[in-house]
Amino acid sequence: MFANKVVLITGASSGIGAETALDFSRLDAKLVLTGRNKENLDKVSKQCQEYSPSNLKPLVVVADMNVESDVENIVKKTIDEFKQLDVLVNNAGILESGTIENTSLAQYDRVMNTNVRGPYHLTMLATPHLVKTQGNIVNVSSVTGLRSFPNVLAYCMSKSALDQFTRCVALELAPKNVRVNAVNPGVITTGLHMKSSMNEQEYEMFIKKCADSHALGRAGDAKEVSSVILFLASDAASNITGVTMPVDGGRHAMCPR
Ligand code: NDP
Repeated sequence: MFANKVVLITGASSGIGAETALDFSRLDAKLVLTGRNKENLDKVSKQCQEYSPSNLKPLVVVADMNVESDVENIVKKTIDEFKQLDVLVNNAGILESGTIENTSLAQYDRVMNTNVRGPYHLTMLATPHLVKTQGNIVNVSSVTGLRSFPNVLAYCMSKSALDQFTRCVALELAPKNVRVNAVNPGVITTGLHMKSSMNEQEYEMFIKKCADSHALGRAGDAKEVSSVILFLASDAASNITGVTMPVDGGRHAMCPR
C-alpha cells in the first residue's frame, strides 16, 4: 500500500513514532526517521529494515524540532535522498504538567515550541513537496486537544492549537488535494509520562485509574494509534481531511456523573 511512498516521521525514536515506523516498513514504505536520540533511532531503523519486504533501510536524521536549522535539514536530507515526500507524520511531542499557578514561562515555551512551533515549521517546509506528490499529513495530537483537563495547562493548549492547525491547513491545502488529519490518543502506555514528572509509583496509579477514566476501561498501546495513523495516511482515507480522530477508548465522550 505504501510501496514507493516516502514517509517522514518525527519522534520516531520511541513510543508511537517508533511503532508507526515499524508499521509503515511492513508495507514497504521508504522511511525518514527523526528525533534527538541517535542510538534509539538506529535501533528502530534496524528493526524497520528487518520488517521491510524489500529490506529498505530508513534514512535517519538526528534533529531537535526546536532548532530551526535542524528542521530545515530534515527536509533537505529527505529530498536529497528520495527526491520526493508523500506522507508527513508530525508525532514528536513532550508533556509537562502544571497549572496556571505553577507553570513557568520556560515550561510553556518548551511545550509550545516542541508541540506547535516545530510541526508548524516542518509542515511549512514540507508542503511544496507534498503538493507535488498529492500527499498527506497526519498530526499526533491528544484527547487533551479536544477536552479540558486541569494540571496539564500548557500541554492542553498546545494540542488544541495543533487541532486547529490540522483543520485550517486541511482547508488551505484541500484545493491542492493534500489531506491533513490528526489522531487524538487517550492515555497510551509509552515512556511519555515517566519522562514528564511522574515517578514509577505515580505512573502505576495513573495507569490503574484508566479503568475509570477511559470508557473501554484501560489505557491504549502504541500499536492501536499507529494503525489509525496508517489508515489516515492511506488511500482508504481518500475522502477524509480535517478530522481530529480520538483514539482514546472513548475518553473524549465521557462526562462525570
Ligand atoms: P515518547 O516520549 O515515547 O515519544 C516522543 C517522541 O518525541 C520521541 O521520539 C522524542 O525523540 C521526540 N521528541 C521530543 N522532543 C523532541 C524534540 N525537541 N526534537 C525532536 N524530537 C523530539 O512518547 P509518545 O510516543 O507517547 O508520544 C508521541 C506523541 O503522542 C506526542 O506528540 C504526544 O504528545 C502524543 N500523545 C501521547 C499520549 C500518551 O499517553 N503516550 C497521549 C496523547 C498524545 P527524542 O527523545 O529522540 O528526541
